[in-house]
This record gives sequence, structure tokens and C-alpha cells, in this order.
Amino acid sequence: MREIQIGGLVSFTTIDYPGKLAAVLFLTGCPLRCAYCSNPNLINVRDGEYDPTKILEWLKTRVGKLEAVVFSGGEALMQGDALIDYMRRVRELGFAIGLHTNGFYPDTLARAADVVDWIGLDYKATRAKYGELVGQNIAHDHMMRSLDIWQSTGKDFEVRITCDPRFVSKMDLMEIANDLHARGVKKFAVQKYIPHYEDASHNTSPDQRAQFFTDENLRNCINALFDSVTWRE
Ligand code: SF4
Repeated sequence: MREIQIGGLVSFTTIDYPGKLAAVLFLTGCPLRCAYCSNPNLINVRDGEYDPTKILEWLKTRVGKLEAVVFSGGEALMQGDALIDYMRRVRELGFAIGLHTNGFYPDTLARAADVVDWIGLDYKATRAKYGELVGQNIAHDHMMRSLDIWQSTGKDFEVRITCDPRFVSKMDLMEIANDLHARGVKKFAVQKYIPHYEDASHNTSPDQRAQFFTDENLRNCINALFDSVTWRE
């Protein structure tokens, strides 16, 4: 089996796994091409810069200091069974396993479900705008299947959206929140879009980016739909 390809590492974070001190491993490769991608150096599959065996050795020195390891990307599930096998080895060290995923690989997520303790699932836009944002029309269907699969495990999770005003309106956000509520989702996170590029196509004004956070009525309506809503400004 090919080893996983790790392109980045955060050795300590308090914000990537709810309530736990964690390390984050960023895996290379992603099937999507989001217009706002903040990790463009990770989206093409390539040899990782970090030796997975050495990372495992380093994680052994973190036992008792960190509580969780989060697999992010890129899209970590793109690395299939090699990823699941690696997660299992990390979990055997005593760490909780977190996964940040765009939901594009529901079947792999189902196979990984017994070794993953928590996921943060990206819901990027309404179905009508999904293809334009991520470059794959089928991505919304895959993401919804991933949501169904994860909900059937009964394990903890969060659905999150990055509000890029080029692809998400306040009405879209409300539509998505209502859809998630109807599906029984309990935890939702609304993330501010922060532009990473200088080119004109990424031009959005600070007010446009802040509109989702300054509208008290919208916030109250969304807060009322979930047990927990995190507003990441
Ligand atoms: S899913 Fe994430 S890593 Fe992949 S293109 Fe979109 S923003 Fe970038």
C-alpha cells in the first residue's frame, strides 16, 4: 500500500478539534478546485514533504501532551485505505481522530467511520451554485451522501460553510441552514471568507464579507435552528 502523502503540519492547535488540544496533518491532493482555496499548494497530488513514519514517531512523543490528531488537506480521504490504515495507527497511540473533509468520498468516509471520532464537513454553497464554486457539479450530491453516512454513525460532527459573497448570499445561507436543520444537524459553523489572492476576480469589499456577521436578524434566525452555531469572523 502506498504511504500517505503529508504536505503540511501544525504541531499544536486549540481550534481544529472541538475541546481538544490537537496536531493537524495536511494531506496532499484534492478533487475540487474551489475558487477561494487557501491551500492551492496542496490540491495537486504529489510526494509529501513529511515522512509519515517520522511523523508517527514524533506523535509518540506527544502522547499525554496532545489529545487529538486532525487529518486535513487538500482532501485527506483522497488517499483512501492508506489514510485509514495510518489513522488506525495514530488512534492506537491513544489520540482521538478528527477529519476535515469536503465530503467528496462518501464510500471512503464510510470505511473510515470506525477510526474517525469527529468530522468537520464543508457545505460550500447551495446545490445550484456548487459546481461553479468547486468545479464539480456532482460534489454537492457526494457531500450530502457523506452527511447521511456520518449521521448514521451517531458520532459528533460539525457542518461548516465559508461565506464567500461571490458564491453565497444571505438568502443562500438561510436556505442551507434550514436544510441542515431539517436533516437534524445540531452543530453549524459560519466562517468568514478571507481573500488569499491579489487578482481582481477575488475582489470583495470588507462590507460584503462582513454582511453575514453584522445582520443580527440573520444571526438570530440561524442560532435558533441549531444546538450550537459558531461564528468564525
Ligand atoms: S476542498 Fe479545500 S483544499 Fe480542496 S480546493 Fe476546495 S478549499 Fe481547496
